[in-house]
Amino acid sequence: MKMAMKLIGLVLALSCAFPVMAGGKPAMTRQSSATLLTEAEEATLLWMREEEKLARDVYLTLYKLWNKPVFAEIAESEQAHMDALLKKIELFGLIDPVLPEVGSFSNPDLQSLYDELIARGQLSYVEALAVGAAIEDMDIRDIGNAIAETANLSLKTTYESLLEGSKNHLRAFVDLLDQQGVEYSPQFIDQAVFDAILAV
Ligand code: ZN
Ligand code: ZN
Repeated sequence: MKMAMKLIGLVLALSCAFPVMAGGKPAMTRQSSATLLTEAEEATLLWMREEEKLARDVYLTLYKLWNKPVFAEIAESEQAHMDALLKKIELFGLIDPVLPEVGSFSNPDLQSLYDELIARGQLSYVEALAVGAAIEDMDIRDIGNAIAETANLSLKTTYESLLEGSKNHLRAFVDLLDQQGVEYSPQFIDQAVFDAILAV
């Protein structure tokens, strides 16, 4: 099943590539691969890069506030996710939206979300853990949509590896909440999907 889906993805990626080659343009690998992405795929890639920054910056800030290793460890993993997406942005010749300062975002929606999450996460350690679970919950939804939206194998593979990371992060936050006597209910993904992730 998985193999069949991968093959379909490959066929789609190839059928997209042919018109470009038929045009007889000289092969400039970096620029020609940019023509393979739709506007929606580009927008999603840029959004995902900043969403990974949102996760990293929230965890870095919560680590400073609460000094709990979970936030520092997961922030490091989010940095790796950001790096993976930067490679794709460069591969497709796009402009990286990431701003250098922790807590600053090009996308105003992500900026307000960051501010909201930090306001909540500074209330208590338990609230900070709930913020972590909510970020991963949202991330899993968005990465799932990004995978469904693209036929580009290079993007799909990167998103799939990010998705596995997010599932691990969600499990970590939900377990820590559980240790504090708090049960997390998913806000962005279906309960059935959530249960399946937690059952691993
Ligand atoms: Zn991530
Ligand atoms: Zn994560």
